[in-house]
Amino acid sequence: MADLVIQGGDVVTPDGIRCADVRLANGLIEAVAPGLAGRDDEVVDARGLWVLPGLVDCHTHFGLENNMMRTLDDYAAGSAAAAAGGVTTYINFVPQAREENLVAALEREMPQAVGHSLVDFAFHLSFGTPGPSWQQELSELAGLGVTSVKVYTTYRDTSYYTTDWNWYQLLEAAGKEGVLVQVHAENDAIIAGSSRLLAAAGQTSLPFHGRSRPEAAEIEAVARGLGLALSTGAPIYFVHLSSPRSVALVRQFREQGVTALAEVCPHHLCFDDRLYQSPQVDRYIMTPPLRPATSVAGLREQVVAGQIDAIGSDHCGYALAQRGAGRTFAATSPGIPGVETLWPVLYTQFVASGLMDVASVSNLVSRAPAEWFGLGGKKGVIAVGADADLLLYDPKGRAPLNEADLHGRAGYSPWHGHEIQGRVVRTISRGKTVYRNGEVCGSPQHGRYVPCRRFGSRGG
Ligand SMILES: [Zn+2]
Repeated sequence: MADLVIQGGDVVTPDGIRCADVRLANGLIEAVAPGLAGRDDEVVDARGLWVLPGLVDCHTHFGLENNMMRTLDDYAAGSAAAAAGGVTTYINFVPQAREENLVAALEREMPQAVGHSLVDFAFHLSFGTPGPSWQQELSELAGLGVTSVKVYTTYRDTSYYTTDWNWYQLLEAAGKEGVLVQVHAENDAIIAGSSRLLAAAGQTSLPFHGRSRPEAAEIEAVARGLGLALSTGAPIYFVHLSSPRSVALVRQFREQGVTALAEVCPHHLCFDDRLYQSPQVDRYIMTPPLRPATSVAGLREQVVAGQIDAIGSDHCGYALAQRGAGRTFAATSPGIPGVETLWPVLYTQFVASGLMDVASVSNLVSRAPAEWFGLGGKKGVIAVGADADLLLYDPKGRAPLNEADLHGRAGYSPWHGHEIQGRVVRTISRGKTVYRNGEVCGSPQHGRYVPCRRFGSRGG
């Protein structure tokens, strides 16, 4: 088979941006240099395009089922949306039922993904209440390539919730196993108290969602996690931080030698809590909720200042119809779609606006998450020997996002109608084109499970 050569694009590599060809062979990047195309090669003209590493979306919830509802985006639909957004690897959360064997949870999830995903995938495990032999299972799980485990400090009445005792024990064990503990940081008692106050005042509709989960709840839980990480010496990773004060705490502990990492999501960088007063409030129900404009500005400044370690979408594809009219915030499953808009939104907000260079933004959604989660060297980078996962992005043109053009099943986007600079022209996964000019063209047999290395182990 003839090799594929991506010709003449502006290629974002770890050594800088250069106008070059990228030769792909056997699913890998074989060479990056000018003038690579031979007579038998299939050539893709990339002049005027950014040639970027395919994104590694380190935070997705495809096929998520909770006690109320199931996301419409299963692995097939979610991975199609991923492909259309230039995401060539996603790391999905596997929920653990109460006291379920951790390996059994992975084995239950695996067949939902294998044979159904258009692009490659890895897993994090959601750790709730562990069973009696969980330490042994954690070790086995890491051996199977699941080397990150998330705890929820909220949702107390569900299987997701982890007690502080279990969290503390997990950190002690995980640190020794090279497993990275991720935290959904929101103090449950503060949320419960705020919700009770609102309920007593009859304020239970969706516009009160934000007020039920104050910023203090996040800051407190982040501080608690940092204290536990400091005590145990284990690395800790905070998902979807929404407050600049949380990020500042993470940085402070980092300076003291704690391996503490901060993730943010595009919605907390683009939207503020005034949207809870809009008629479209149902498009902005996620946890943590949207924050005041001053917090949004602070979080954006931290991204620009290089104080954020990774950006993930937190894609959670419920349809608005599932959210229902007249529902209370307490009876609504939070979550919004975002995997397909991740790159176009960040490009528009941070690159096209002149705030950051394209390589720095690309790094936050490709190389950095790949390295934190044990996929470094193989995923998220344009380098010889890495998987041939590429995103070709045309920076020209500006148009409002139309949610009808998206490929997920949620059927809406919180960015509908917002101006987007540029568009994804082509997505390549291990040398195969999986999306091209509006058309998802991959095969569900193509996407593979990619095991993650243990935290701190070197890639190659
Ligand atoms: Zn999430």
